[in-house]
Amino acid sequence: MKTALQGLFPEELKALCQSAGQPAFRGTQLWQWVQVQGATDWAQMGNLPKALKDALAATHTPEPARILTESGESGGTRKWLVGLDDGESVETVLIPARDRNTVCVSTQVGCRMGCAFCASAKCGFARGLSAGEIVAQVHLVAAALGKRPDNVVYMGMGEPFDNYDEVLKSVRLLNHPEGLNIGARRITLSTSGVVPGIRRLAGEGIQVELSVSLHAPNPELRRRIMPIENKYPMDELLRECADYTAKTKRHITFEYTLVKGVNDSPRDAEELAGRLRRFPCRVNLIPLSPVDEFKGEAPSREAMEAFLRILENRGVEGTLRESKGKGVDAACGQLRRRSKPASG
Ligand code: SAH
Repeated sequence: MKTALQGLFPEELKALCQSAGQPAFRGTQLWQWVQVQGATDWAQMGNLPKALKDALAATHTPEPARILTESGESGGTRKWLVGLDDGESVETVLIPARDRNTVCVSTQVGCRMGCAFCASAKCGFARGLSAGEIVAQVHLVAAALGKRPDNVVYMGMGEPFDNYDEVLKSVRLLNHPEGLNIGARRITLSTSGVVPGIRRLAGEGIQVELSVSLHAPNPELRRRIMPIENKYPMDELLRECADYTAKTKRHITFEYTLVKGVNDSPRDAEELAGRLRRFPCRVNLIPLSPVDEFKGEAPSREAMEAFLRILENRGVEGTLRESKGKGVDAACGQLRRRSKPASG
């Protein structure tokens, strides 16, 4: 596969041009085209010599990702099936709000985590995305919007910390002051609980937001819905989260998908609050969005609000998220699932 230009820092583009026998400033021009103008075609890059473009085109591409299909609700969530160079596809979602536009990017084709209610794993795992394929998703949305998105959340298909190096590189590229310049605090990494990834992130010195998908108040229940509990048990995970908040002075958001009769009882809320009270965090409650492969439903609004009140009464801050994009097969791997039959 060709290397995506969107995945290279200015210094790397300069070195690339120099290795093709051209001066370093050509690399700066390339960066401008790709990261500032959002170019996806060599033909757009009018100020670059044809010989350079021809030489680079053998190994590099300005279009590592393209839109295959779009679905959306008017004025609401828009979702794209995005095709990659090797024929694989992932999903990218735009969640507009009154004052900001949030892009949800995928980090892998499929996922290895196998969470019970998530569609991303159901058609198998192919590979991790390159940094350029991740950055290119944000450019696709910027082009569709006609402006730079405000926030980026790594909550599409895949487990970001199962593809750590490319994901972190994509964060630094999106955050680059001479590129899209998306503030680190406007970038959220979401993990199912890959402990070594949390530890590494704590040492990066970058102010991104961290979300951890917990979904259960105790290890026994978590094991039933998240196989990762067998590898990184909840106690170890929460210890790592506490260390992260101490080291970075930043809080953590715990994602908690509410499933009726599974993890939504008042006792579950009490137990969850008891475990989370000891460090700076908040809980983001998400009603289950229906997926074909998982028999379960979201609790009633009242039950979810009652769950939230118990957390808050016990000193744990929480929010109840409206599930967005139901009409477009929300951000849970369902679009790719529709386009590709299950492999297992
Ligand atoms: N792998 C990462 C990021 C991707 S998923 C992670 O696990 O955090 C983003 C969030 O959506 C996760 O919290 C995930 O558990 C949740 N999710 C997946 N399927 C869902 C569904 N059907 N309904 C509600 N939330 C879901």
